[in-house]
Amino acid sequence: MILLVEDDVTIGRSVAQGLGAAGFAVRWLRQAAEVAGVVAAGDVDVVILDVGLPDGDGMAICRALRAAGHGMPVLMLTARASLDDRLDGFEAGADDYLPKPFAFAELVARVRVLARRAAERRPDPLVFGGLSVDPLAGVVHWHGDALALEPKGVAVLAQLVRARGEVVPRARLIDAVWGAAEITDNALDVVVSALRRRLAGVAPGLQVRTARGVGLWIETDMVSTRDGSGYKL
Ligand code: CA
Repeated sequence: MILLVEDDVTIGRSVAQGLGAAGFAVRWLRQAAEVAGVVAAGDVDVVILDVGLPDGDGMAICRALRAAGHGMPVLMLTARASLDDRLDGFEAGADDYLPKPFAFAELVARVRVLARRAAERRPDPLVFGGLSVDPLAGVVHWHGDALALEPKGVAVLAQLVRARGEVVPRARLIDAVWGAAEITDNALDVVVSALRRRLAGVAPGLQVRTARGVGLWIETDMVSTRDGSGYKL
């Protein structure tokens, strides 16, 4: 399914109808606030994202999708078409960029390419230093050795690896592990404590660090980005 997020009724209607006529299933949203729920329900193959929305910013939506681990192709639509704007879009995790006004045939052609790419794309394991996490399979390897970890610990590690050494806010970790479920405030600490104890035994070069009051970040004996030391030789 193609998720179209566009507040302009004229553009939204014509794009939704046109993509439908081209054979795509299309869901059209006019507000940023609805995006997360629709994406979380699954079944979204490609996102077409207007940058300027009444209740949000397409760049921020794109960043949030990537932070939540959604890898589907994102095509940004915008009236702003300077090089800096395009680079901002790619930096936010967009795969393609189409300035308005656009030729509808070009939009369809680009969506076809992205949809094909989405179909071919297999989720690769997340890799950071000597650590490899396959969140779908729930499998973690450290320098090639499989680690037996609790599923919630794997979910936390996957988020930390995605952030590649940057701090991941507690709220995002809680959301990734428990979703909308109500949890007690220290549930994350319990999972992280167990994870640290386990890692201390089997992967001493792998550290889950705490940024007090903010979140967590990961450091390995091969990669440490937060303190700028980069790759050790
Ligand atoms: Ca708009």
